[in-house]
Amino acid sequence: MAANSLLDLVGNTPLLRLKAVSDLTGCDIYGKCEFLNPGGSVKDRTALGIIRCAEQRGELQPGGTIVEGTAGNTGIGLCILGNALGYKTRIVMPMNQSKEKLEQLELLGADLHLVQVTGYDDDKHYVHQARRMAEEMNAKEPGSAFWARQFDNTDNRWIHRETTGQEIWTQTGGKVDGFICSVGTGGTLAGVGDALKDKNPNIKIGLADPNGSSLYSFFTEGKLESSGNSVAEGIGISHITQNLEDASIDMAFRISDQEALPYIYDLLAEEGVCLGGSSAINIAGAVLMAKELGPGHKIVTILCDYGTRYQSKIYNPTYLKARNLPVPGWLR
Ligand code: PMP
Repeated sequence: MAANSLLDLVGNTPLLRLKAVSDLTGCDIYGKCEFLNPGGSVKDRTALGIIRCAEQRGELQPGGTIVEGTAGNTGIGLCILGNALGYKTRIVMPMNQSKEKLEQLELLGADLHLVQVTGYDDDKHYVHQARRMAEEMNAKEPGSAFWARQFDNTDNRWIHRETTGQEIWTQTGGKVDGFICSVGTGGTLAGVGDALKDKNPNIKIGLADPNGSSLYSFFTEGKLESSGNSVAEGIGISHITQNLEDASIDMAFRISDQEALPYIYDLLAEEGVCLGGSSAINIAGAVLMAKELGPGHKIVTILCDYGTRYQSKIYNPTYLKARNLPVPGWLR
């Protein structure tokens, strides 16, 4: 059967058993292949959920402009789906994100605005700049802009509950013991958690938090505190988003890049799967969850996007060596 539009190609991604980490832990660890979405990441789902809900509520006018602050992937999703639906996209992105994502957004036709890298509390943070741009556009021409607001717009969490979570339940035949992933907006973790807990409240939900993010300390000690940093893009935050609010989380792990990156390098060399940095944090989290639950359990995590999106960074020996990070053998 043929799809009628690009929108129909979002989601329904396969689950892939990750052999080495399954062997290592005695569990079955599966990755949901979100890199196979048409825009190459898990964030196509967010883009689809937000656009469809906004259309239903009349918040997005025909031919209007979708404005969003993003680390890149949500922008890519909004841009391709927007193109397919006749919307323009204005994307606000911090300038420290990979040049591959930035170039892709330009290639796709997004109106790209790079802004300085700063904390969420700062008025110049990319999220606040996106909001202001949308407000200014609407002040000039009422109804012309729609701010997607992926961090606090819970249509993001909803689409993961309705699609990602349901798919994981079906694909595991309901025999899933744990789900774990990292957080950018929290839409994936909270939405999948909602869906799975609804089916079976005994399913464990875990947070895999990179260095530099404040969520591990929040879920373990109730304080938003961070230390260190991570090269993983699109994840790690310093505040509780509306998408993450009241998310049911049973265990949390803090994971360093040194610990995480070898998982994706081995996965590429031995199992042929080329992934980005957030997937490394997720797989490392799945291993820690497997150790906590013990052998014989079925654990699912998210393979968020392709490694090619970070060729100039985590697949670049010069970049890695400068940060004292492990270098994949074949790139040395
Ligand atoms: N990995 C990557 C590469 C991402 O771009 C994002 C989204 N920013 C995430 C993980 C996190 O997903 P979520 O926003 O659903 O928490």
